[in-house]
Amino acid sequence: MKHDNILDRRGLVIAGPCSAESREQLLTTATQLSQTGRVDALRAGIWKPRTKPDSFEGVGKVGLEWLAEAKRLTGLPIATEVATAEHVELALAAGVDILWLGARTTSNPFSVQEVADALRGVDSNVAVLIKNPTTSDVELWCGAVERIAGSGIEQIGLVHRGFAGYAPTTLRNAPLWQIPLEMRQRMPQLPMLCDPSHICGNRTGLRDMAQQAADLDYNGLMIESHYAPDSALSDAQQQITPTELAELLSSIVWRSRSTDRAADYQGRLDTLRGTIDRLDEQIFSLLAERMEVAEQIGRLKQSNNLTILQSGRWGEVVERVLAHTRGLNLSDEFVRRVLESIHLESIERQKQIINNDK
Ligand code: PEP
Ligand code: MN
Repeated sequence: MKHDNILDRRGLVIAGPCSAESREQLLTTATQLSQTGRVDALRAGIWKPRTKPDSFEGVGKVGLEWLAEAKRLTGLPIATEVATAEHVELALAAGVDILWLGARTTSNPFSVQEVADALRGVDSNVAVLIKNPTTSDVELWCGAVERIAGSGIEQIGLVHRGFAGYAPTTLRNAPLWQIPLEMRQRMPQLPMLCDPSHICGNRTGLRDMAQQAADLDYNGLMIESHYAPDSALSDAQQQITPTELAELLSSIVWRSRSTDRAADYQGRLDTLRGTIDRLDEQIFSLLAERMEVAEQIGRLKQSNNLTILQSGRWGEVVERVLAHTRGLNLSDEFVRRVLESIHLESIERQKQIINNDK
């Protein structure tokens, strides 16, 4: 018998520690999460793909026994990350309900294909979540979905966990909301979850990030929770206790989906406005970064006794930008106005540097 799609739930919450660390840690966390009454599935990483080789790489397959025990104890479906055929086989044998591909795995088509091949012919109730790749490559993310779908898996969902390598910000991974929104345009049937833990990399931003996802009509959240976050062996700074998670979740407003035309229009309007808000944030983060660079140039000019305005340079900047923006459907007049305003602010910053040092 085919079960309901476990991912097909508005406001779905998959929570649990970044890593399974010990039987006690997992069972304590799972029990507390289950007692909140707000969690739909328990997550824990068993095999951890770490950026650096000297980090905690997971407890390995013994952790599956703890996960299975947590499932028996709480009745919650369980989820873990898989990156190889062996992981898939062991996880399914242990009764894991939701497998997920981590960002580093989605980035590698060889690994995705290996997982897809291992999934061929398995129980059709197994769900697979595909996290975005570490880079902002929509095609790579789509390719992973196509490979997994090609194995016959029907319950597929996406997890937006942010993108590495962007400008340094207070966030661990830049959300770049336009990428998941583009994915949703292309694959509207797939549920989209937000993983605010890996986007924020800290505890303080989690709530707002989760609410932004809810405002953008996401289907749910994957979020890290540990009964004693400070002592976590991985991602300690971003994990919160089950009690804190319950508070966070109770403050999130999931707009109800409605077939009512007025509500539908309002929903779309809210989604588009949310997109505008996110884009504005990105524009101004980039502008702040540009001012930072202008200040560095100011310091360089100052120490070499150069004037702020170097003749010819500004004209080159304008021409270069116009050559770029002419392909972007932006009028020259608008681009010139924006650039002028940016230029004035840069000069102002450089003037301050030069005057302060006098
Ligand atoms: C995780 O979920 O703990 C994890 C490793 O996430 P990501 O693949 O998004 O980095
Ligand atoms: Mn983690």
